[in-house]
Amino acid sequence: MAASLCCLMILSACADHDNPVYNEVIDDKPFTGDQDIDKSYIPGNNFYWYAVGSWLEDPNRGPSQFELVSTQLTNAYYNNLMTSQDPVISHIRNLAEQAQTDDSKMVELLKNNLAVIDAIKTANDRDLIFKQLQNLGYHPLFRISPIINSGNIWGLVTNGGKPRAIDQIMNYPDATQSEKLDAKVAEIAGGLKDMGFSEKRVNEITAHAQEIEKMELLIHINTYDACHKIWTINEKARRKASKEEEQAYAYLILDLMNIPQKYAGYLVPQESVDVLYGNQPSFNPLFKLYFSEAPEDIAKVRDYLIYNTYAQDAAMLPSLSPKLTLKDIMHNATYALKYHMFKTCVESFGLQNIHKEECSRIMADMRQLFDERISKLDWMSDATKQAARQKLAAMKFSIGYPDQWNEEFSPEVEGSNLLEAIIYLRAFQTGCSLKTLGKSAQDYAWEYFTSSVPFYLDNAFYHPSSNMLVILPSWLTDIRFSTEESDAKRFATSFCFGHEMSHGFDANGSMFDSQGAMKDWWAPEDTVKFKNKQQEMIELYSELEIYEGLHVDGAQSLTENMADLGGVTLASELYKKQLQAQGYSQKGIDEQLKKFYLSYAQIWKNSRILNKEYLDQHFAMKNEPHADEHIRVNGIARLMDDWYRIYDVKEDQKLYVAPERRVKIW
Ligand SMILES: [Zn+2]
Repeated sequence: MAASLCCLMILSACADHDNPVYNEVIDDKPFTGDQDIDKSYIPGNNFYWYAVGSWLEDPNRGPSQFELVSTQLTNAYYNNLMTSQDPVISHIRNLAEQAQTDDSKMVELLKNNLAVIDAIKTANDRDLIFKQLQNLGYHPLFRISPIINSGNIWGLVTNGGKPRAIDQIMNYPDATQSEKLDAKVAEIAGGLKDMGFSEKRVNEITAHAQEIEKMELLIHINTYDACHKIWTINEKARRKASKEEEQAYAYLILDLMNIPQKYAGYLVPQESVDVLYGNQPSFNPLFKLYFSEAPEDIAKVRDYLIYNTYAQDAAMLPSLSPKLTLKDIMHNATYALKYHMFKTCVESFGLQNIHKEECSRIMADMRQLFDERISKLDWMSDATKQAARQKLAAMKFSIGYPDQWNEEFSPEVEGSNLLEAIIYLRAFQTGCSLKTLGKSAQDYAWEYFTSSVPFYLDNAFYHPSSNMLVILPSWLTDIRFSTEESDAKRFATSFCFGHEMSHGFDANGSMFDSQGAMKDWWAPEDTVKFKNKQQEMIELYSELEIYEGLHVDGAQSLTENMADLGGVTLASELYKKQLQAQGYSQKGIDEQLKKFYLSYAQIWKNSRILNKEYLDQHFAMKNEPHADEHIRVNGIARLMDDWYRIYDVKEDQKLYVAPERRVKIW
C-alpha cells in the first residue's frame, strides 16, 4: 500500500509538469487476464467475446469474479457465525448447541406467547398485542422501515415481514412454489397441534391466516405491477391517490408503536419507488382489516398473528424443525442482528483483507480528477459547474466499513435460552432502527446501510437523497483489488467507485442537490444540452443487440450506462495520469491500457449471457436498469477514444462509432 501512496504522490507532483522525465517503470506484477481472450473474435466487432470468449466457451470454466467473491464472503460469514469469540455470538452459539439437545424451555415460552395472542377478544386487546409483538421484534403485519430522504433517515410504514414461503410465491409465482406453500401450511398446522391447539382451532387458524396471506399476495402483485407503471409512466399523479387515508393509517400504527408521527415517511416529499411501495393505496384493505372493530375480523387477525408468530419461531427450534443444522440455527438466530453481525464479520475477516485505505486514496484522487474535469467542461455554464462541483465536494464516501464502530449498536449478552435471546436480539434491532430515525444519513451511514445490507452482499450503492455512496467490502478484497497484481486490474476495479460517484450526476441523481434534496440546480440551457447527451446515449445503446434481433432498451438502462461511462472514464484517466507520472512512454501506456480494458471486461464474466431464456427474462424486468454484462462492456468500449487506438478498431467493424458521436458527458 505504501508503494501506491508513493505513486499517487508522484502523480500530483508531476501531473502538470511540461517535461516529465521518461524513465520507464515497468509494471511487472502478474496479470492473468490474457488467458480468457478468444483471438478468433475481432475486438472491434465484439470486444466482450474477444476479452472473455475462451472462458465462456470452456465447459470446465472456473468461477467468475462475482462467484469467487460470493464464495469468499459467504464462507467468511459462516466462519464468523461458527467460530467467532465475540461474546454475543458465542453466547448464541452455546444456546443453539444446548437447544439441539433440549429446547423444551423454548417450546414452553413459544406456547405461552401463543396463548397470550389466543386470548385476544376485543379490538383493544388486539392493539395491545400489536404493540407488544412489535416491541419484541415480530413484524407480522407492518413495520417501520428506515428510509433516507433529503439527507435524513425517516420511518416508513410498510407491509410487515412475511413468512419466507409466501415471499417466494410473491416473487416467483409458479406451480412448484405453490406446492411448497401448501407443504409449509401443513407443517405449521402440525406444529400448532403440538402447541396444544385443537384440530378445529388449527383448521380455523390456517384458514384465517391463508385468507390474509392471499390478500397480501394480491396486493403484492398489484403493487408490483403498479411500481412498474410508476417507474416509467406517471409517478406523481399516482402518489396523490388517497394520501389522507394512508396517512391516517400510518399515524395509527405509529401510535401503536409509540413512535412520534414526525418520523412517518408520509410527511416528507417522496421521490423513490421504494417509498411508494409501502404507500400503495391498494394496501389499504389490509390496514382496514387489521384495525377493524368487527368480531369476525378481530378473530381473523388474531389467528393470523398466531400463525405468523409460530412460523417465525418454529424455524429456530430444533424439535419443531428437525432438519435444522447448527449453522441454520445460527443464521436464523442472528438474522435480526444487522450492524453487529457486519462488525464481527469485518473483524473476523481481518481489516488487512479489506483494502479500505487504498480505495480511499484512489477515491480521493478520483474526486479531484472529476472536479478538474467538471471545471473544464465545454458544454456547461459556470453557474452549473459551480453547483456540480459543490455537490461532488459534499458527497460522502462510506468505504468498506465504518472508521469507528458505534458501540450503541452492539447488543448485550442476554437470554437464558435461545428463544429468549432471539427475542431480545430482535427487540434490540428494532430499537436500533428507531434510533437512526431523524438522524443525518451521512452521520449514520453504516448504521443505516447495515440494516438492509449484509456483510457478504456483492455490491456498491449511491443514494441520491443523501448524496452518499457506499462501497461494500466485496469490492475491496484481494480477488478484485489486490496490490500484488497488475495496477491495471486494480484501476479497472476502481471503475466501480467512479460509477457510484457518477450516479450523483446521472439522469436521475442530477435532480438532487448536494444535500440530497430534490432541487433543480441546473441553468435551463445546460439542462437542454444534458438531455441531448442523454438522448445520444439512449440511441447508441439501443443500436446494440442483446442477441440477434433483440435490441437493448437504451432508455431503461440510461442511468446505469451513464454511471458506467463516468466510472470507466474516471478510472482510465486516473490510471493514465499515474502511468504518465511513472514515466511510461505512449507505447507503454497503451500496453497497460490493454490490460485495463481486458480487466474491465473480465469483471463482467458471467455465463448467464449464454442462456437465451435468462436474457429474455432479464429484458422483461421492467424495473431493471442494468444492461446485460456483454452490453456493459461493448457499450462502454465504443465510447472510449483510447480503445479505438489500442485495439486498432476500423470503421467497418460492428462496434465502431464515429468520433463525433462518442458521447462525452462528465
Ligand atoms: Zn449503478
